[in-house]
Amino acid sequence: MADQLIIFDTTLRDGEQSPGASMTKDEKLRIARQLERLKVDVIEAGFAASSNGDFDAVQLIANSIKDATICSLSRANDRDISRAAEALKGANRARIHTFIATSALHMEKKLRMSPEQVLEQAKQSVRFARNLCADIEFSPEDGYRSDMDFLCRVIEAVINEGATTINVPDTVGYAIPELYGNFIKTLRERVPNSDKAIWSVHCHNDLGMAVANSLAGVKIGGARQIECTINGLGERAGNCALEEVVMAVKTRRDYFNLDLNIDAQHILAASRMVSQITGFVVQPNKAVVGANAFAHASGIHQDGVLKARDTYEIMRAEDVGWSANKIVLGKLSGRNAFKQRLQELGVSLESEVETNAAFARFKELADRKSEIFDEDILALVNDESLANVQEQYGFVSLVQHSETGERPYARVVFTVDGKEVTSEAEGNGPVDASLKAIEAHAQSGAEMVLYSVNAISGSTESQGEVTVRLQNSGRVVNGVGADPDIVVASAKAYLHALNKLHSKAERVAAQG
Ligand SMILES: [Zn+2]
Repeated sequence: MADQLIIFDTTLRDGEQSPGASMTKDEKLRIARQLERLKVDVIEAGFAASSNGDFDAVQLIANSIKDATICSLSRANDRDISRAAEALKGANRARIHTFIATSALHMEKKLRMSPEQVLEQAKQSVRFARNLCADIEFSPEDGYRSDMDFLCRVIEAVINEGATTINVPDTVGYAIPELYGNFIKTLRERVPNSDKAIWSVHCHNDLGMAVANSLAGVKIGGARQIECTINGLGERAGNCALEEVVMAVKTRRDYFNLDLNIDAQHILAASRMVSQITGFVVQPNKAVVGANAFAHASGIHQDGVLKARDTYEIMRAEDVGWSANKIVLGKLSGRNAFKQRLQELGVSLESEVETNAAFARFKELADRKSEIFDEDILALVNDESLANVQEQYGFVSLVQHSETGERPYARVVFTVDGKEVTSEAEGNGPVDASLKAIEAHAQSGAEMVLYSVNAISGSTESQGEVTVRLQNSGRVVNGVGADPDIVVASAKAYLHALNKLHSKAERVAAQG
């Protein structure tokens, strides 16, 4: 009988720590709902004690998501652990994930604690957490660079105190697959009570080996939980990519012989959603979710695929959510067809009002664009859910003029707290002029650190999806806007970013 492999997603915690990837509470909930559709086993929703915003997000997700276990990170101290437990109160299944560094370097330079003090604190924290929650995960931070003898003592002690999952992080992405696999194996052999906990891997991608290391930790080391993020989102080079590790285990079941709960058909929608919300685009040649991942460009391959698919295909595009029939809806599609397509895409709109608003927008788009693709629908719905929030700024209309030899000009009409204002400016191009016009009135003083345009379905007729990243007094926010007119999409994205910049959801401290 095959063992179960637990998929622990930390897009909302470790992924979100990536500079520029910060998300609002509502965005986190949307991603959590998508992770639930994907059937991940554990969702690490945040780090409750790090800020009020994080606490609220963990609480909201714990109260809303029913199928997955909801987890909060917490440092190894009573205050952090209490906050985590409080935020998780509404969860059907809750997990507290507590951590303390165990490598000589981290203990000495960061914690300024002796190994004996670290051991004592780890024990006390797990004991304290165990009284609040039955499901406790413990991570020795920088575990892979820790002394083996010391690590064995710490892990044995925390399992005795009731830790149910032991996670061994390669915090700095230093591991090599074979060595990391053997590291986990040795730990499991040497820790006397190792069979009383589930072992977990958490790998960073600094050397491009996060997925390979995680799989070695499973195959060689016997770990049965993988920690990962959608699109490999995360600090520096990111975390182990969920879509890659999941499809490796599924496609090579002959080798891994492990069962997964994941419903892979929702992978692509999850990837799109995370990319859209964070503004971290997915490279075209990215495995599984990249635009070219299933495109057979060379003539020889096309010929082979036409004769028999498995000549060059090891996975089916449909199995991870790419639709075989690309053109899905048009001008004549009715409300039911639209609703059904949303369901097939795994999108559930909260209310009838929201569905009506989204459908109205779909009709408006269909008037301007003959073929509507899945990507358009997803962009439209995402855009719609943004518009539902009571925002300070809202887009109304725009006029712009650009002509060779003349300086581009734009006039933008938008609302500020419900009141319409008109503002105009010149710029280097129509987009620049439009954003300068908005800024001339808004006076945010923010610095733009990223501007990107993505043609949603690949042609000039397609919708442009624009991401604007603004930075102001240490805060970084992403604004997104979609429209067939990229100047309009840009203005929407800029206003969206301003709304986020002005929102009260302050984040005080990120995790070290
Ligand atoms: Zn990490």
